[in-house]
Order: sequence, then C-alpha cells, then structure tokens
Amino acid sequence: FGLVKLQSVAWNNNVEMNTAQQLLFNTRAAFKSGITLPVEWRIEQLNRLLDLLNENENALLDALHKDLRKPKLESIETELIVVKNEAINAIKNVQTWSKPTYPSKAFVQMIDSVYILKEPYGVVLVMSAWNYPIQIIFSQLVGIIASGNCAIIKPSELSPVTSELMSKLIPQYLDKECFRVYLGGIPETTVLLKERFDMIMYTGSSMVGKIVMKAAAEHLTPVILELGGKSPVYVHKDSDLKLVAKRVVWGKFLNLGQTCTAPDYILCHNNVVDSLIDELRKTVEEYFGSDPKESPDLARIVNARNFKRIESIMSATPKEKLAVGGETDESALYIAPTVYKDIQLGDPIMEGEIFGPILPVLAVNGADEAVEIINSQEKPLALYIFAKSDKVGLNFLWDEILKMYEPGSPWSIPNLFEIVIKCITFNNILVFPYLTSQHLLVVQQLLSCTSSGGVTVNDVLMHAASHNLPFGGVGNSGMGRYHGKYTFDALTHEKPVVYRGQNFESLLSARYPPYSEKNLSM
Ligand code: NAD
Repeated sequence: FGLVKLQSVAWNNNVEMNTAQQLLFNTRAAFKSGITLPVEWRIEQLNRLLDLLNENENALLDALHKDLRKPKLESIETELIVVKNEAINAIKNVQTWSKPTYPSKAFVQMIDSVYILKEPYGVVLVMSAWNYPIQIIFSQLVGIIASGNCAIIKPSELSPVTSELMSKLIPQYLDKECFRVYLGGIPETTVLLKERFDMIMYTGSSMVGKIVMKAAAEHLTPVILELGGKSPVYVHKDSDLKLVAKRVVWGKFLNLGQTCTAPDYILCHNNVVDSLIDELRKTVEEYFGSDPKESPDLARIVNARNFKRIESIMSATPKEKLAVGGETDESALYIAPTVYKDIQLGDPIMEGEIFGPILPVLAVNGADEAVEIINSQEKPLALYIFAKSDKVGLNFLWDEILKMYEPGSPWSIPNLFEIVIKCITFNNILVFPYLTSQHLLVVQQLLSCTSSGGVTVNDVLMHAASHNLPFGGVGNSGMGRYHGKYTFDALTHEKPVVYRGQNFESLLSARYPPYSEKNLSM
C-alpha cells in the first residue's frame, strides 16, 4: 500500500514532472478554468456528494468496519450523518455565503462603492487522519466545494480500505479534474508537501503538524492544523456521578478511545473520587458486558504500532492503580476499556495524548487545583466540566433572597414575582448572567482561567458535533477552525474592493503634492 497510486489523473505528456507535480498541475489548470466559480456548479457537486454517501452507505460502513471494526451505529452517527448535515447545510446556504458583503463606509470612501468579494484560494491540500476517515475528509470537502476551491485529498494510509474506497468513489461522483485523491504513506506525502498549494488543511498529530507547517512555510502557504492533545475532564463534588460516568464512558470508549476530542484524563474532586471510580466500573459493564472483548459495540486499535504504544503506557503504570479493565490481546488489536486511579501528574500516562481506551483519574482538591494542572499542560483540544446546577441553584436562590431582603426590609408582590421567575429560570445562564451560585463559579472559573479548543459543560464531545459552532484547536492542539460556514470562511479570501468613479476629482485635490502649498488646518 506504501506505493503512490494516483486516481483519476488527467495526465499530460510532460515527462519532467513527478507524480505530485503532475497532479497539482492538472488540478490547478481545472481551478484556473473558472469551473468552480458559479454557485450553481458548487450546489450540483454538493448534491453529488450527498448521492455518493446515500448510494454507497453499506460499502462505506463496511470499509470502516474492516479498518477499525467500527460498530455500524457508531459509524452512522459519527461519520455519515455528520457529513450529510454539513452538505445539506452548505447546499441551503452557499448562495448567501458567496455573496459580496457591504460594510459601512469610512469618510474617505463617501463617493465610492465599497464591498468585500468572496474569493476561493485555489488548490487545497487535504491531509487527513485515519480515526474518522470519512467524517473528516468529506466534511472538509463540503467546505472546499462550497467555497469554490479545488482539492488534492491525501487520506491516511492507516485506514487503507476506507482510503481505497474514497479514491474510487470521489472521481465517480465529483468532478474528476477538480477533486483528486492521492494515496500514499510518509515518503509519498513528503514529495507532495514540497509543492506549492494555496492552502493546506491538515488533520493529525501535533508532531506531524509541525512538519506540515515547515513545508508550507517554504511557499508561505496558509495552513489549517486540526491537531490533538490531552483533553481534561473536571468533575466537581456536587456532580451526579452516575450521569458523569454514563457520558464520559460513552465519549471515552467511542472508537475505542481513538477520538481527537475524547476525554484524556479525569480530574475528580477528592470527596467523590472513589464513588466516581465505582460508577465508571458499573457503566463499563452496563455498556459492554462482563467480557467487553465479546461486545460488538467496541471498535479495535487501528494497528500493531498503536497497540504497542498504548500497551507500553499500561506497562509503565503500576498494577495497583488499575481500577477497571486492563486486558489486552495483540492478535485481535484489542484493549479493554480501562480506568486507572491514584494517578499523579508526573506518571508516564500523563505525558502525551493517550488516543486509546485507557482513562487515568487524578484526585484534586477542587477547581483551583484542576485549573493549575490544566494550565501546566499544553492547551488541549477540548475541556469538559461537570458540575451540578440544581442543588446549587437553590443555594443561589437563597443567596438572592438574602441579598434582596435585608433584615427588616418589607416584602412586596413585584419582588416575590421576581423570585418566582428566578426559580423557574435559574438554570438559564443567558437570562441571569450575573448568577453567583457555586455551580457557575466553578464553571466560569474553568472557562475563564484555562484555554482550550472548545468546551462542553456536563457532557463530552458535543461542542464538536454540529456545524453551527467553529471547531478547532488552540496552541499545541491546532490553528484555524472549520465546520459549517466556518469552513467556507476559512477557505475564502475576503477581498475588499473600493470602486471609485472618475468624477469628483476636486474632492481629492487636497491629497496631492506639492504638500507645501496646502493649508491643512487640523
Ligand atoms: P498522523 O499525524 O500520524 O497522520 C496524519 C496524516 O499525516 C496522514 O495522512 C499521514 O499519512 C501523514 N503523515 C504522517 N507522518 C508524516 C510525515 N512524517 N510526513 C508527512 N506526512 C505524514 O496522525 P494520525 O495518527 O493519523 O492521527 C492521530 C492524531 O490526529 C491524534 O493526535 C489525534 O488527536 C489527531 N486528530 C485530530 C483531529 C482534529 O480534528 N483536531 C481529528 C482526528 C485526529
């Protein structure tokens, strides 16, 4: 599989070019022809992309199963539906997104028309990871098509069945000249990266992200880097631990822990850490049975190299810290959903992104210590905060009553009415942004004192699950963002135009030299 295979390349006879150069030359020629500019063409391509997904659903699900043993429902929910929603959203909105916008005019532009044109960059290189091979590539492709760019797509060599299938289907359904697939491993990608693209959209590890950025710098090519990191979960002492376990176990062991936004480690309040471990154990058994290896609902580790990497972290973690799971089977690339307790910051398991089904739990004194630990690490792709509001909501209400009614002050109907409204809506932080309950203090403290790509409060993964929010990392977890209109914007050069007529010259005379003759009284 390591060899370069080019799909749907319209060869020219220039023998001087290597395969990567040839591919780029042809794709750039397609872009320069202007074929991608009419919005109607883009909508048609997006509809064809939807056809591709609808008509080949079983083949796509099958390929994901062969590469990662992904359960069917998981593949539908986390791969196919996500892309279909992206495509439907783009079809509905691309007309509006592509229109020029008209900003307000500055004084010096009073006699002009002023607008911003939406210009595609050109040829985008898409380099992608293997863990959600369909979701990532096709979601990005939706934005590439909608914004009028062309693309060379380099799927991961580590999900070979899915990558091969995409390389067959994309030229069958989409314009062959504009959207091309390049299959290959590291040597072939290295050759490809020498070329001058107009944008690189890379999804993968931070380490390779640096290689990509260096290569892009040679040509001053802009990059969007969707990377990984250690995404923490903070569990406050007032949380409903059964609910925390249900949500975290789902998000952590989805795709057997090989999700970029998966909870990497838990920072749990001291008072409840033992109970949380109990709930995690019960939930793993509830979801996957007493022998999770037999469960059809668990994917597998992508390959032996990753298996060994995760196994070596497990071997470096003392046996007495094992709280749940721990079984491995290299021949089946299986690692059981595993939880470790009593983990300390310096332990090997806390060194890098785990990207597998092992979950360390660290006990902390509270939100202050959690913030300190999070800030001692690289900025993560995601942060999850669990803190219960209901009980604290009542505390808040009581605080509010005490604040409003100083001893001796009279009760009044309007004030009572206000309290009733607060009782009903105390959960809605938009209505009462000034809430000072403990719940909000904890959540606000973590939100404002830490930096991460995104945040979900009282659940996991959900900030990344739809096209209405920008998705991306910060610092070591990436740069740039995409999903929905954010992909369109990321792949569009906003070109300001000042359109001036050839009249009103006298209004401009003050700006011309010789300046000494002007009487500029400010
Ligand atoms: P990877 O960086 O090893 O590979 C990604 C791509 O880079 C592949 O197409 C691969 O062929 C290419 N590549 C690998 N090594 C290269 C090299 N030396 N030179 C040139 N190209 C090279 O990443 P991966 O193992 O496929 O994915 C796992 C990582 O990706 C994790 O860190 C995960 O968090 C991250 N990830 C991030 C997102 C996101 O949206 N932020 C999504 C999925 C995965």
